[in-house]
Amino acid sequence: MSKTAIVTGGSRGIGRATAIELSKMGMNVAVIYHGNQAKADETVDACKANGVEAIAIKCDVKSMDEVGVAVQNVIETFGSIDVLVNNAGVTKDGLLLRMSEEDFDAVVDTNLKGCFLFSKACAAIMMKQRSGKIINIASIVGLQGNAGQANYAASKAGIIGFTKSLAKELGSRGITVNAVAPGFVETDMTDVLSDKVKEAFLNMVPLKRVAKPEDIANAIGFLASEKADYITGQVLTVDGGMCM
Ligand code: NAP
Repeated sequence: MSKTAIVTGGSRGIGRATAIELSKMGMNVAVIYHGNQAKADETVDACKANGVEAIAIKCDVKSMDEVGVAVQNVIETFGSIDVLVNNAGVTKDGLLLRMSEEDFDAVVDTNLKGCFLFSKACAAIMMKQRSGKIINIASIVGLQGNAGQANYAASKAGIIGFTKSLAKELGSRGITVNAVAPGFVETDMTDVLSDKVKEAFLNMVPLKRVAKPEDIANAIGFLASEKADYITGQVLTVDGGMCM
């Protein structure tokens, strides 16, 4: 029977590349999106072109009710959840004294609480199956910090602690939990940065190019595969050598 993967934030960027990579590996894919249905449908079509089943599900990862309904929908459609990629994320940058409570909460709720809600709903199913792989998308900012991104860095550092804790809790049930920490990736999220900021990032990358979403998706695909069966609780940095 085909395996099933859920990719949150699968409509665009790293999530889209990941959904497509997992479909190439033969997995059916549920693409979770927030508002961008047209983009989610494009991802679904790209996955189906690889010969698997795929569906798009609108779901705000911040909402426990919506996450519950989405996970139920996946189980009713595909019958199992073998891989969960917690990828949905947002930024709302600003220096500390100018950062509003709303901007702090929005980033932590989407990036960290969203990861908690999906993991909790899927872990219940994976524990019964006695197998599963959870891959959380952190960031090198969660390892190093970044001026102007205290909310984002806190959410990503939180994801790393969350990942290691779940790895310890769920290991005996045959479930691995790992994080991928990308560096600078060419997506809508980074497109808004000025050329000066992009240049500054590039200067810090030993491999002298920014990442494509596929660079990150390849690492996620590996962690989702049987080749990574004995890897858990790890943070795999995929950043062209920026952080070492
Ligand atoms: P992106 O292109 O901006 O896409 C963000 C995705 O998240 C979209 O699919 C969006 O759905 C979804 N999303 C946002 N809020 C959501 C919510 N409340 N509920 C459900 N889905 C939601 O981002 P990206 O650059 O690919 O980043 C993906 C992940 O990698 C994020 O966790 C990000 O923090 C992390 N990351 C990115 C970089 C980078 O340089 N780009 C570096 C390190 C880590 P809609 O399309 O429906 O809006």
